[in-house]
Amino acid sequence: MAQEKALPITIRGITKTYGEVFALDDVDLDIESGEFLTLLGPSGSGKTTLLMVLAGFTRPDSGGVSFGDQEVIRMPPHKRDVGMVFQNYALFPHMNVAANIGFPLKLRGMPKDEVRSEVEDALTVVQLEGYGDRGVEQLSGGQKQRVALARAIVFKPRILLMDEPLSALDKKLRERMQIELRHLHEQLGMTTVYVTHDQREALTMSDRIAVINDGRLMQLDKPRAIYDRPANPFVANFIGESTLLPVAEVNGTVTFDGIPIKLAEGDQGIGRLLMLRPERLVFMPEGDSAQFNRFNGTVTEVVYQGESFLVYVRLAGGEEVAVRSVSQHRSLEAAPSIGDEISLGLHRDETVLVSEA
Ligand code: ADP
Ligand code: MG
Repeated sequence: MAQEKALPITIRGITKTYGEVFALDDVDLDIESGEFLTLLGPSGSGKTTLLMVLAGFTRPDSGGVSFGDQEVIRMPPHKRDVGMVFQNYALFPHMNVAANIGFPLKLRGMPKDEVRSEVEDALTVVQLEGYGDRGVEQLSGGQKQRVALARAIVFKPRILLMDEPLSALDKKLRERMQIELRHLHEQLGMTTVYVTHDQREALTMSDRIAVINDGRLMQLDKPRAIYDRPANPFVANFIGESTLLPVAEVNGTVTFDGIPIKLAEGDQGIGRLLMLRPERLVFMPEGDSAQFNRFNGTVTEVVYQGESFLVYVRLAGGEEVAVRSVSQHRSLEAAPSIGDEISLGLHRDETVLVSEA
């Protein structure tokens, strides 16, 4: 059931207020045909509101939305040809699996035996062959989510919207479903807008990520670019862990605490905040450090996390920096302890400057 015609989505100047609250504040966003785009942001940032505007359940105060060449802002939800998966599944409890999945087709007046065959196809796509006669209440959380997904794709929509569809599942199943949904997207090819507050999920699944906060678009880019080149402090802090050190620029030389910072050749970003990510820092031995920037401090916390440990270090100026170190059981005694004076190194090729806003 591959998709013949995916559609691009054009979002222009969308604003939605609830009283004093700007749920969406002048959002522009271009979603490419067939891409998997994730809206990523903290709780209350406006993700669901934007998805509901796309689905047609929420009318914005101003702005426009087009699917392909067609302006849809005044079009009711059922005419938009959009499949939707909700966080809480929203299945009909009194219907069996096949009836749930076939519902959108029945609504469209499709003959019974065609419905049956389309439902079979959809069950195969979500790997639930033979489950048609089961009661919905007999299913596990993961199976319910597959049924909800099958119902969303059974009528071959050109756009698929998903609002935190995996958040009710436990971690292992969630991670497996992330990969499955990604494969399914590649198989079906419909333009997909996926909502999550989970940055790792967004990094795993997306072609591009739109980071939003307070109803505003903070950055739109591919996962690696979002992680490696955050456009502002919000993105640097929300995705991964980071400390941003304020640097000064004196006669073209970037300094921190009066000491020149060795920067990457070419593109290291622009801005006045030097980004330190835990996994990009190393414990620095004494001596030669021609390629490294050195930061001295005192260990304030050591957190064991199984595959690695996280060591928090307070620098002379009071800034707290975390460094991640892979734990190998034979060298565990080499882990620093609270109170140790240590040096952290940041290779010049790892330097990234983030702008303040
Ligand atoms: P998210 O999905 O990112 O958690 P939402 O889009 O649900 O965020 O909400 C964005 C903001 O709009 C929040 O401040 C929320 O409280 C507010 N909001 C959303 N829906 C309504 C509503 N129906 N009535 C009042 N306020 C709302
Ligand atoms: Mg939401």
